[in-house]
Amino acid sequence: MPRIVMHIDMDCFFAQCEEVQNPKLKGKPLAVCIYSRRGGDSGAVSTSNYEARKIGVKSGMAIAIAKRIAGSRCAFIPANFELYEKASQKMREILMAFGEKFEQASIDEAYLEVTEKCKGDFSKAKELGEEIKAAVLKQERLTCSVGIGPNKLIAKMACDSQKPNGLTVIEPEGVKDFLFPLPVKKILGIGPKTEEMLKEMGILDVGELAKTDTSRLVTRFGKATAAYLHNAANGIDDSPVEEKEQVQISRITSLRTDSRDEKEMLELLDEMAQDVVKTVNEQKVLFRTITLQIITENMKMHTRGKTLEGATDSLSAIKNEIRALLFAYLEQNPENIRRIGVRVSGFEKMKGQRTLEEF
Ligand SMILES: [Mg+2]
Repeated sequence: MPRIVMHIDMDCFFAQCEEVQNPKLKGKPLAVCIYSRRGGDSGAVSTSNYEARKIGVKSGMAIAIAKRIAGSRCAFIPANFELYEKASQKMREILMAFGEKFEQASIDEAYLEVTEKCKGDFSKAKELGEEIKAAVLKQERLTCSVGIGPNKLIAKMACDSQKPNGLTVIEPEGVKDFLFPLPVKKILGIGPKTEEMLKEMGILDVGELAKTDTSRLVTRFGKATAAYLHNAANGIDDSPVEEKEQVQISRITSLRTDSRDEKEMLELLDEMAQDVVKTVNEQKVLFRTITLQIITENMKMHTRGKTLEGATDSLSAIKNEIRALLFAYLEQNPENIRRIGVRVSGFEKMKGQRTLEEF
């Protein structure tokens, strides 16, 4: 049975999340920015929507330059990672149901192994891709692009070849026709440096790379990279779709104003603790480590953690430990606090163990 892998990539994810939250932004140029601590317009555009790209506002551009280009035609808003993390978590829940294995590749990208589900039939996979796009649009009001191929590499490159809202299927017989005309930089992992080195060797497109004698590549790049380049250019990739376990679950929030208001902080921590335990229960895990996160008014990050003797999913355990950590922290640190957060980590899968609270 031929292998089938799907790659799903949310279209300009941060910008779309903002448009869903505030529909007035939709249809107009929008740039989501990460402002640096130096204040003013220092920082960079993280994601721009397609309307903003049309007027020249690109991801990675300095905010000041983007403003000079777009002026008041474009809305510039600060990134809200809590919002994107939440949307990403929802995506995860929706997508996991569609394949036999799920791998989160980044906050807005994922792989699905769908070989069994589609019984090796690429036309079935295409229908499944359409279903996924419809489900994501219906449930989250977000569009995504989907690439389908015989492995992760081809699925990802197929996805990248048609955006936004694309659906691209590359069957095994079509891999070489798809890959060979592309410039080498389209291969995953080939950055400007490798591209330049290949250019010096006279290799510009993937087809040329595929036909290059491996010994020439070994001399220039070493064995491991040469093997990767040769395989990738020929569309060969055996890497599995691997479920990556989440390593931590956290929530962070801002105080109304920078302060040391214990009552406000304890209320916020209790709310976040509840939210964290909800996610912990959804994921059917237990945690061992509880961490308090503090960002002070001068943007310094502090963490204080406690590792328990046994794994738990107890809300009161988090609440009690986090209070103790907060009081100890406040004793030693005089600055006002801007943001405060709760994190749990050190996960164990729940195997019907009893939680600490039951003892
Ligand atoms: Mg994306």
